[in-house]
Amino acid sequence: MISVAIDGPAGAGKSTIAKAVSKKLGYIYVDTGALYRAVGLKFANAGFDTELNCNIENILSDTNVTIKFVNGEQRVFLDGKDVSDLIRTPNASMMASAVSAKPPVRAFLLDMQRKLAMDNNVIMDGRDIGTVVLPNATVKIFLTASANERARRRYKELTERGEKVDFNEVLKDIETRDYNDSHRDIAPLKQADDAIFADTTEGSFEDSVNLVLDIINKRLENK
Ligand code: C5P
Repeated sequence: MISVAIDGPAGAGKSTIAKAVSKKLGYIYVDTGALYRAVGLKFANAGFDTELNCNIENILSDTNVTIKFVNGEQRVFLDGKDVSDLIRTPNASMMASAVSAKPPVRAFLLDMQRKLAMDNNVIMDGRDIGTVVLPNATVKIFLTASANERARRRYKELTERGEKVDFNEVLKDIETRDYNDSHRDIAPLKQADDAIFADTTEGSFEDSVNLVLDIINKRLENK
């Protein structure tokens, strides 16, 4: 099986680029951030905020997160309910970042991610795919862009969905998540030693898709 690991900070365009590339290659695209978002939603629904003053294991023992592919698109289910849209709010992002720093949460989601890559050709995106989840991935890419550009894209995406957000708040959230994700003790966001660095600050979306496709094709040719 072929596995492509794409890691990088929030808003670097990982998911839209990975989605487009996976369609071209006929691989499944797994958005691992959605899994952390679903777990974050569980804790939010249980009445907790990002402080997570609760017994994490207890709540996880009563949590079921699964994914299904509907017309090639990943849908995420929390305790049997499709939460794919509910997990896209700014609060869900912050809750995802908070729960993702907790070792029991990362352990809870690990096997499921590995199993997907064992059974399918995948493009998987996240923060620790090349470093922890799939250390033997066929291709590893670290995708990034400047914080300002990432905030601009996230702002556009949110406002297009009808959310009322302030640009500076979006930028602050991105910077806070960058900090949390790169400074946590477990599976921090960092480039794997054997990952190829790709910066998408400049250039169009198509340019970024082609850049990633080139990296994958070159790597597969040299295998
Ligand atoms: O990728 P996305 O922005 O949807 O991820 C939401 C949050 O989930 C991230 O800020 C990060 O804290 C966490 N995450 C993670 N490891 C992954 C994917 C996401 O810690 N593999």
